[in-house]
Amino acid sequence: MRIAIIGSGPAGFYAAEALLKRTDTAVEVDVFDRLPTPYGLVRGGVAPDHQKIKSVARVFAATAARPSFRFLGNVQLGRDVTVEELRRHYHQIVYATGNEGDRRLGIPGEGMGRCTPASVFVGWYNGHPDYRNAKIDLSVPRVAVVGNGNVALDTARILLRTRAELEKTDIAAHALEALVASRVREVFVLGRRGPAQASFTAGELEELGELEAADPVVDPADLAEGALVGEEARKGTLELLRAYAARPPRPDARKLHLRFLRSPTEVVADASGQVGGLRLERNRLEPRSDGTLVARATGESELLDVGMVLPAVGFAARPIPGVPFDEKARIVANADGRVVDSTTRSVIPNEYVVGWARSGPQGLIGEHKKASAQVVAHMVADGAGLDERPLPHRDAVAALLRERGVQLVSFDDWKKLDDVEVARGARRGAPRDKVVDVTAMLEILGQDR
Ligand SMILES: Cc1cc2nc3c(=O)[nH]c(=O)nc-3n(C[C@H](O)[C@H](O)[C@H](O)COP(=O)(O)OP(=O)(O)OC[C@H]3O[C@@H](n4cnc5c(N)ncnc54)[C@H](O)[C@@H]3O)c2cc1C
Repeated sequence: MRIAIIGSGPAGFYAAEALLKRTDTAVEVDVFDRLPTPYGLVRGGVAPDHQKIKSVARVFAATAARPSFRFLGNVQLGRDVTVEELRRHYHQIVYATGNEGDRRLGIPGEGMGRCTPASVFVGWYNGHPDYRNAKIDLSVPRVAVVGNGNVALDTARILLRTRAELEKTDIAAHALEALVASRVREVFVLGRRGPAQASFTAGELEELGELEAADPVVDPADLAEGALVGEEARKGTLELLRAYAARPPRPDARKLHLRFLRSPTEVVADASGQVGGLRLERNRLEPRSDGTLVARATGESELLDVGMVLPAVGFAARPIPGVPFDEKARIVANADGRVVDSTTRSVIPNEYVVGWARSGPQGLIGEHKKASAQVVAHMVADGAGLDERPLPHRDAVAALLRERGVQLVSFDDWKKLDDVEVARGARRGAPRDKVVDVTAMLEILGQDR
């Protein structure tokens, strides 16, 4: 069996691992990624001050060391190679392309300067090549982060960390420089619903109480009884929020305000046409017939004095030419990991999807292990007899790509780049200093060839 996996994030790597552990049949796995670097959001999403989480890359490197694994970096499906071509070269295809698009707030003013989707800000500080030149203007004193997930807390925390806290991480050098010079003093994290409905986890919330020069601020009124419908399930986070509400912030500390039951309704411009404020509407919670709680506007509004807005309200898959797309859910159209036609919902044989491209932006890295293995179980069940289908030689796909002028990056190439980054990082006492530009990455590898 020869299988192509498109995307080298956690879901793609866990699928590769499950496939290569099969003992019933010999399997060759080619993992493609549009970037020269592997690991998806482990490198480009997970916050730089979460090095322990990033260490999962070692597990993926062990999979990559298996003899029938191959990494083909710097190859974008839909640009460098088509789905039709992959079908000719592989028995089965797995899409593991993640959620690289954003969900929008859908309010007036959203497109203006200094209103920047969290994915752009996150990609910028993590040195993702797509966002290395993003315009991030940190000359404003107050910033609003819209959303109540862990990504919202990541962005707020990184905005308020000190030089000493940041320079020992693998934050991109350009972001370190900008954050050290930042004038941001206050960050407002805004939740549409109440504290008991926030989706951030207790661990991330706890970190906010341990920042070197910033303190969390919670208004006790937001923790009043009415706002806490659904409390039982969220005991850990609510205890922390109560502790923050009771604790006076240090006088000189920067402030990280956690505010609830507020929805943004308009991004307001300043005289220069960039963000000058965020209009908010107060909400109250109402139960739906299914027992869940919905935020309803009370008609009461306020203008929050901020000079930057970072919407962190979720992600969505980007459509890829030739891959069926579910427009409503904004994922690859699928039934339990089997790709289906987006209109008829009939199964497209031998094509599968894993990770966020399959389910949307839910789930931590570790959860993909089981989920990808479940899809691999479908592949095994569906694939009996496929080995009869003759394929071109395994090297034919690489030859095709080279003919097109694609500079392929192998896993050994990545290891060389990895060494370069680690050596550069050691100079500032950091785990690595990332190369953030694809051309520069290819040049480093070119010198070595
Ligand atoms: C900001 C942020 C912080 C997070 N922090 C944590 C955390 O601390 N702990 C935790 O457990 N989880 C965290 N997560 C969640 C975790 O990152 C995801 O669960 C996981 O990365 C999803 O895996 P994936 O493989 O589906 O997608 P991804 O990790 O996004 O990987 C997708 C890969 O596909 C590639 N690709 C996309 N399109 C193409 C194409 N057309 N051709 C070729 N390649 C393509 C991309 O380059 C990428 O490498 C975080 C997520 C975000 C966004």
